[in-house]
Amino acid sequence: MKNNKNSIICRAVLSVLTALCIIFSCSCSKFQHTYEPLGDGLEVTVLDVKQGDSIFIELPKERCMLIDAGENEYSKTVTDYISSKGFKKIDYLVGTHPHADHIGGMRKVIKKFDIGKIYMPRATANTKTFEKTLELIDDKGLSVTVAKAGVSILKEDDLSIDILAPNSDEYDELNNYSAVIKITYGATKFLFMGDAQTQSEREIRADVSADFIKVGHHGSKTSSGEEFVRRVGAKYAAVSVAEENDYNLPVEKIIDRWKNSGAQVLMTKDVGNIVAYSDGASLTVNGVKAEAGTTADYNKNNLQPNETPDGKWVLNTNTKRIHSNECPLIENIAKQNIKYSDESISELKKQGYKTCGSCKPTD
Ligand SMILES: [Zn+2]
Ligand SMILES: [Zn+2]
Repeated sequence: MKNNKNSIICRAVLSVLTALCIIFSCSCSKFQHTYEPLGDGLEVTVLDVKQGDSIFIELPKERCMLIDAGENEYSKTVTDYISSKGFKKIDYLVGTHPHADHIGGMRKVIKKFDIGKIYMPRATANTKTFEKTLELIDDKGLSVTVAKAGVSILKEDDLSIDILAPNSDEYDELNNYSAVIKITYGATKFLFMGDAQTQSEREIRADVSADFIKVGHHGSKTSSGEEFVRRVGAKYAAVSVAEENDYNLPVEKIIDRWKNSGAQVLMTKDVGNIVAYSDGASLTVNGVKAEAGTTADYNKNNLQPNETPDGKWVLNTNTKRIHSNECPLIENIAKQNIKYSDESISELKKQGYKTCGSCKPTD
């Protein structure tokens, strides 16, 4: 009787467990079907670091990536921006090549943040900046993964980060060692050229088509060859360049080449930070959304920052950002995405809003 009772209990427990297993596996597979990784979004910021390059990328699932860190004197711009986004760790750090306008600020970045993986090309440069950066990487117990064509940084269902160049082991020109990075997120594609020149462009066999490109070498004529510009077919071409520089950059002919290819050219010297947000299907650049296949009418919105009607905050309902009335970035928000609000920031955060990293609004 006791045994019998036990076996009944056993059977009951077993069937409950089986039921749980079925429910669990059902909910798991259901979870996989309804899971929407694109809901997270991906945001690229080409930072205004004057004459240099630094690109910060917020990846889905609260991960991030930094490509270059500008000159040392602008490292604070870079580290402050990353901190303002709430990150303490950089999951993927790329030093495209050893020039100081790209890796000058790298030491400050490595000192300030936890670092996941570091990628740099196998290039030698006898500069203090480069040597000290390598020393610090060593001191921190980190190691460098060689950046070269074919290396995959990340591969997930809707997100992949690949290195497309360098394709050779030796170049005469240090710029050609530049790690060229392609990010594919859903249907949107981004390409980051470092200072790669036409020789490297020609060597890339991989698909270089992209909606958004960080143009090579600050708009210099040594990069952006005609054939390459055509292959990329970008909707947006971002140029990181200072208003005043010793190199007469960007070269007008190169800017026109991108424009004539159908791209909208944005330069940090004109607009400051260039922010491109992707929901996986469409792209919003500096607050203006572009449907697939069209070029955004960047100047459509004539709203002036000081003409804003009532409301303490200016909200971008598309990028879910909270801006102060004085924030220069609100000039670029498409009218249909603007909303004014007097609610507290904590209340707005509950609604999914984040504070702007540029004007840093506080209650
Ligand atoms: Zn360079
Ligand atoms: Zn450069």
